[in-house]
Amino acid sequence: MKYLILLVMVLAGIWWIRKQRPDHKSAQQSKPSGPQAMVTCAHCGAHVPSDDAVAGQQAVYCSEAHRQLREA
Ligand SMILES: [Zn+2]
Repeated sequence: MKYLILLVMVLAGIWWIRKQRPDHKSAQQSKPSGPQAMVTCAHCGAHVPSDDAVAGQQAVYCSEAHRQLREA
């Protein structure tokens, strides 16, 4: 009987610790809403989001075509 009470206390402790943890799942689903960094194409001067920019050896470009025009 003593061990049963101990087991229940341990299980209750684990349950309590799990309950205290913040839910990271919902935080990951929200997209970052901050302003996106813009870069300038070295060939045509267009401003493109850094995520869409094509990185060349000398500079960044708005597209793969412009990178090839400059560096190929
Ligand atoms: Zn360009």
